[in-house]
Amino acid sequence: MTGMVKDYATVWENCLRTIRKNVNSQSFKTWFEPIKPIRLELSALTIQVPNKFFYEWLEEHYVVLLKRTIRQELGDTGRLEYQILMSPQIETKKIPYSNGLDISSPGGVDTGIIKNPFIIPGIKKLKIDSQLNPSYIFDNFIEGDCNRLARSAGLAVAKKPGGTAFNPLVIFGDVGLGKTHLAQAIGNSILSTLEGKTVLYVSSEKFTNQIIESIKNNAVNDFVNFYQLIDVLIVDDIQFLANKQKTQEIFFHIFNQLHQGGKQIILTSDRPPKDLDGMEERLISRFKWGLSADLQSPDLETRMAILEAKMSQEGLDLPYDVIEFISYNIKNNIRELEGVLISLVAQSTLNRREIDLDLAKEVIKNFVSQMSKEITVDFIQKLVADHFDVPVEKLKSQTRKRGIVIARQLSMYLAKNLTNKSLKAIGENFGGRDHSTVIYSCKAVQDLLDTDMIFKDTVADLEKKIKMSLNEK
Ligand code: ADP
Ligand code: MG
Repeated sequence: MTGMVKDYATVWENCLRTIRKNVNSQSFKTWFEPIKPIRLELSALTIQVPNKFFYEWLEEHYVVLLKRTIRQELGDTGRLEYQILMSPQIETKKIPYSNGLDISSPGGVDTGIIKNPFIIPGIKKLKIDSQLNPSYIFDNFIEGDCNRLARSAGLAVAKKPGGTAFNPLVIFGDVGLGKTHLAQAIGNSILSTLEGKTVLYVSSEKFTNQIIESIKNNAVNDFVNFYQLIDVLIVDDIQFLANKQKTQEIFFHIFNQLHQGGKQIILTSDRPPKDLDGMEERLISRFKWGLSADLQSPDLETRMAILEAKMSQEGLDLPYDVIEFISYNIKNNIRELEGVLISLVAQSTLNRREIDLDLAKEVIKNFVSQMSKEITVDFIQKLVADHFDVPVEKLKSQTRKRGIVIARQLSMYLAKNLTNKSLKAIGENFGGRDHSTVIYSCKAVQDLLDTDMIFKDTVADLEKKIKMSLNEK
């Protein structure tokens, strides 16, 4: 560095002099002569290259030399920016050196001209950014009956990607049950335990858009070739590929090549493969080659465990009855469970209120759309029947079997204590029994309560469940 203002042409001329000494003349002719210096701003020299391939080649083969040369000319902050000549428009790509991670163009326009959308430039061996969210890991994916199969299949795949019978591994289930989390946990685990594996996570939407883009740019082959570099491909929410014929066709090719090459494929879907309407039969049949594992709604204990894990992650401490209350009421969506927790904390901070059951009830109303306004006899019957594992209808029947009699009597007892229904109305709800039967039942339950501690616990538990269930008034 001389301290005087340099012009871009001179800088590039000097660079070329160094480069010429370091590459053979054929390479120099092919790869450096066609380059045109464009401008020098701050310490960034912009050079124009004929096309994207050219730029990639330079990055792949000459990045070290270029870096050294540029720094020699422009000092330690010196860097190169590429302008890629493409008719009709000219695109500029900023290629930060050092460990530059993003390819950006001026004005933040994503031009889509970089062939391989996930390639990290500036690194000699092409490296692909996995696009994984590092916080989705197995450690914070709580195990329960609802996810045991999928989770352990995921663990197996993570240990030996491509080396198990679970290829593809299809994780399916309703929204908010952890498909994305689990699929990404597999990817993250592979990245952190197996060296040199290339993992790529892509949503079906992104995948589709890339295909559209590559068709537009006449680069479908590049696209397919790029995907061949992947050892573990995760495609999220494949139901969105439905009715997209061209996308499916290209995906089919990618799938086959990866699968043949022993690469791992992980897919998620909101329904089992066989129910994927609008999906080509040949794709569906391939999805069935491996394992389809579903995620179901978590049971109460798992929901509570997830909430508790979330809390400890966030450094929160909620009263037990609040955790229980939330878990009772948010049943089918784990994302909602988290949503309630966040709202609760926000409400409590904003309004300077302690987090207690009352606040939880207020918050949760925004999440539960059809909450029943009062405790109904039907509700009690269902809960008790579930608990004793008997069909609800039996409570209304004439059966005198002991197990059912107890469930029936207990339902009446709870109905009398927890609803404001008359004895007569309660009796009618039990297959048209009269009010004296209800009185008799309540007495029988009371006797049992006085003598049987286990029964007493059961009843307390059920009472709590009923009260917990948002049914106010
Ligand atoms: P899906 O992709 O099925 O819609 P997500 O994977 O996005 O669901 O999960 C929704 C939220 O619930 C995420 O924040 C995720 O971390 C969380 N989650 C899901 N399952 C579990 C689990 N078993 N343990 C802990 N958190 C979970
Ligand atoms: Mg998802």
